[in-house]
Amino acid sequence: MLDTALHHDVGLSFIGTIHTPFKARGQCPRQGDATDGPDCRIVVLSELEPALEGLERFDSVEVLYWLHLARRDLLSQSPRGDGALRGTFSLRSPLRPNPIGTSRVRLLRREGAALIVRGLDCLDGTPLIDLKPDRCGYTVQARPKG
Ligand code: SAM
Repeated sequence: MLDTALHHDVGLSFIGTIHTPFKARGQCPRQGDATDGPDCRIVVLSELEPALEGLERFDSVEVLYWLHLARRDLLSQSPRGDGALRGTFSLRSPLRPNPIGTSRVRLLRREGAALIVRGLDCLDGTPLIDLKPDRCGYTVQARPKG
């Protein structure tokens, strides 16, 4: 177990909230499906709405979120529940010292301060940390749609 006294506040502030149909962890997929998942709504704080300008030009967006209900003290875990342990950093488990989740989602449309997306795996009400346009895998430049 991790000594939680090692935690330091780095001054992160949430930029909004993610709304999904998933009301309990057991309802969430292990990883979101950008092709077939349900429509979800990412709402940024109203004062941050201007920062969304231009994002709708991208089909695909990287979403960073804070898995706020996750334990943060596990150094090893048994992902299959069979007793075989693996180090936390070798897993994409939500249980980690800094419970940051990332998903590449399909951006369907923007409605003011909200983005309608597919491909999330988090609970309704999960705090939002950041949004970035997805990069093409073969260039260093972000590639806009149009
Ligand atoms: N796609 C992200 C990643 O790879 O970084 C997260 C993957 S994690 C395996 C997704 C799981 O985290 C969900 O299936 C659910 O069990 C759990 N989860 C979702 N939202 C959560 C939240 N707000 N707090 C704690 N656990 C959450």
